[in-house]
Amino acid sequence: MKALVKTELGFGNLEIQDKQEPQVGKDQVKIEVKYTGICGSDIHTYEGHYKVAAPVTLGHEFAGVVVAVGDNVSEFKAGDRVTSETTFYICGECAYCKTGDYNLCNDRKGLGTQQNGGFAKYLIARKESVHKLPENVDYQSAAMTEPLSCAHHVVAKTKIHDGDVVVVTGPGPIGLLTAQVAKSKGATVVITGLTNDKVRLDKAKEIGIDYTVNIQEEDVKEVVNQLTNGYGADLVFECSGAVPAVKMGLDLLRKKGQYGQIGIFSSAEIPVDFENIIQKEIRVVGSRSQNPHDWEPSLALMNDGSVNVKALVTHEFDITQWEEAYLAIKSGEAIKVLLTPAD
Ligand SMILES: [Zn+2]
Ligand SMILES: [Zn+2]
Repeated sequence: MKALVKTELGFGNLEIQDKQEPQVGKDQVKIEVKYTGICGSDIHTYEGHYKVAAPVTLGHEFAGVVVAVGDNVSEFKAGDRVTSETTFYICGECAYCKTGDYNLCNDRKGLGTQQNGGFAKYLIARKESVHKLPENVDYQSAAMTEPLSCAHHVVAKTKIHDGDVVVVTGPGPIGLLTAQVAKSKGATVVITGLTNDKVRLDKAKEIGIDYTVNIQEEDVKEVVNQLTNGYGADLVFECSGAVPAVKMGLDLLRKKGQYGQIGIFSSAEIPVDFENIIQKEIRVVGSRSQNPHDWEPSLALMNDGSVNVKALVTHEFDITQWEEAYLAIKSGEAIKVLLTPAD
């Protein structure tokens, strides 16, 4: 089978290879991939900013159909429509594993980063990570369960009350998903972006986000103050990983506001105005990836129509066309790109 492989670390080093079809182990499920999304982290990996266990087949946002199961697997059978958490291996013994916080286990190995992932015709997942798709969730949408779970993860770390005003900074896929999850909790959502985010801000409007603000053209503080009688936003979810967005987010918050950081910065240390956090008693929370608690709620949000993930898909290619996909993402014309396997 053909697979899109990161052959070694550094810039580039990505190629289509012919690989053996993987064999299912006794506690594992073999999945024929239908769609796999390209994540921002895949771009970082391609460009050499992220470390993976190269050589490895990339792709951690996927959905497909079960084609074989191991001897110890009774929960799934061939023909089941599924997606899988990215967790492939955990120690199972640390304090984090015991509470299901696998995203924090030091020994965790993930599909598409340390273990062969979804940019191929078949992959192997551990049975504990696999989820059946609800009736109304198609394969394209299901391929975005992982990023939706990441959005769910940050929202679940905060408390949203009905009518709260939430600002989401950064209208990329994670921002557009976080905005929708926040709306499903009863929030009024303002999403912000720049002039070259036009396609994304238009998409936000299309999927029903309450307010979209191009901060290069409009004063977002005024928008927020008008919505909140001058108090400021109840919550900010920073989804861009852009340093100026942190200052903006903290400035927009009301006293006792909540701030969630999900965007990843290009350098680890950034200047932060802690005075703002102290004086306004802001609660700041970081959010890394997702864990098992996020998956069924995310599938449910897609199934009942609270979140529209399919609308974010702007491009589809097969894995051999990965360079075109890369260019579509880098040019800013794409929002979410899905890849299909190639024979
Ligand atoms: Zn991802
Ligand atoms: Zn562990």
